[in-house]
Amino acid sequence: MQFQTKLFIDGVFVDAADRATIEVLNPHNNSHLAAVAEAKPADIDRAVEAATRAFPAWSSTAPSERGRLLLKLADAIEAHGDALAQIEALDTGHPIRDARGLDVARTAATYRYFGGMADKYEGFVVPVDPGFLNYVTREPVGVVGQIVPWNFPLMFTSWKMGPALAAGNTIVMKPAELTPLSSLKIAELMAEVGFPRGVVNILPGYGAVAGQYLAEHPGVHKIAFTGSTVTGRKIVQASAGNLKRVQLELGGKGANIVFDDADLKAAVAGSAFAIFHNQGQACIAGSRLLLHEKIADEFLDAFIALAKSIRVGNPLDPATEMGPLTSMGHRDRVLGYCEVARQQGGEILMGGKPPDDPTLTKGCYLMPTIVRAKPADRVCQEEVFGPFVSVTTFRDEAEVIEIANGTSYGLGGGLWTRDLRRAHAVARHMTSGMVWINCYKRAHPGSPFGGVRGSGYGREMGFEAMHEYTYPKSVWVNVDAAVPPFYKR
Ligand code: NAD
Repeated sequence: MQFQTKLFIDGVFVDAADRATIEVLNPHNNSHLAAVAEAKPADIDRAVEAATRAFPAWSSTAPSERGRLLLKLADAIEAHGDALAQIEALDTGHPIRDARGLDVARTAATYRYFGGMADKYEGFVVPVDPGFLNYVTREPVGVVGQIVPWNFPLMFTSWKMGPALAAGNTIVMKPAELTPLSSLKIAELMAEVGFPRGVVNILPGYGAVAGQYLAEHPGVHKIAFTGSTVTGRKIVQASAGNLKRVQLELGGKGANIVFDDADLKAAVAGSAFAIFHNQGQACIAGSRLLLHEKIADEFLDAFIALAKSIRVGNPLDPATEMGPLTSMGHRDRVLGYCEVARQQGGEILMGGKPPDDPTLTKGCYLMPTIVRAKPADRVCQEEVFGPFVSVTTFRDEAEVIEIANGTSYGLGGGLWTRDLRRAHAVARHMTSGMVWINCYKRAHPGSPFGGVRGSGYGREMGFEAMHEYTYPKSVWVNVDAAVPPFYKR
């Protein structure tokens, strides 16, 4: 398969100024996939200059025209869906059925949503004092730096670029060094459908070099960041120089609560999806399973049986339900948490090791892992970011709310119950940007996505995302007011 491997700057694909490259590996067997150009400060400077030059014309382009280009991009993504799914499966380890059915489909849907949004996002008029007209327009922020992680690289191009472009901003995006390939394919499609030069620039590079430089850059007016909480803190510090706007989508430690009156069959399947989809490499993963003590044994029997039946294997096999983790370093980090759990008295109920299948030994694989642990244990407090779920029991609503809210994070959480009152009452008390009732990990381009506390601030998706990529400009007009009395001579 042919990959795009160059930096996308000012509408053309170019080598890095110093011709440096990053080796990209296939997590299925750690074989070489591609050598991708590595951006350094000189390249970032060129991209920021291109985005700065492109901004006046792009921000003045009719919103309907910006929307039309986003709609064309959505169509192009669908037309190249098989290739994009293949790239994502090879680069990240996503099973091909998810890459095609979820990643590609959701990416197209998100660009399409914001394509439709572009000419429907309105300002407003404020009823101020008689004789004056006060209207408020939504102005694009300017040149936006976007830094994304490796877990959903294709989808995150649309979450970040869709609203930013609809609102009239220009972009310098830095994909994760581990998984840059699908975003470079998107750059090709953007050039093909006619986005003007410089409006979007995509530059793979290392976080500590290219990412840090972009976050510090005085020519960048906003940084939209998705990644770990540790890096989020560095972004805030780096942004201080020119006081750029910052939007942070950080880690999570999702509580997934199963009450004793839940539909257990649905809860078992939903809880497996919550943690094992994408090998658990999701900020909104339901990584803490909180089970009511009355149903804990029955639930766990069914949950473990289901986890054992998950088909772990080569992402390119259409039957595969769980692929490898995205890098060996990360696989080993997740594996290390099994030891951390044991040291604190945790019990590994299943998994905790790579699969026995001899065809998978070179890859970054790990079995679905289920660990009994206490709420204060490190595995219940720290983001593991793998197919690793902790299990804790609880007695009543008050106790489970305390456990659910007892981490430094506040991104997403869910609960399973047939009791309507309980469902809404618990949802209300969860300190969490998103709550799922009798489902888990639902997202839609129209529904606000993001967290509170250690999970960051700002929101992706919907009108909230459009607010994030614009600032309100309040314009006052003296229509027929008497001359104000100040300094009247
Ligand atoms: P990471 O923070 O290490 O890296 C994320 C991105 O930041 C990468 O592109 C990386 O190159 C870059 N980066 C690293 N150091 C940098 C620095 N000093 N300055 C600027 N950029 C820098 O995170 P990761 O390990 O790649 O991703 C996993 C994390 O992302 C998890 O914590 C996960 O929860 C989080 N995440 C959050 C959301 C959300 O929407 N809340 C979604 C997906 C993933």
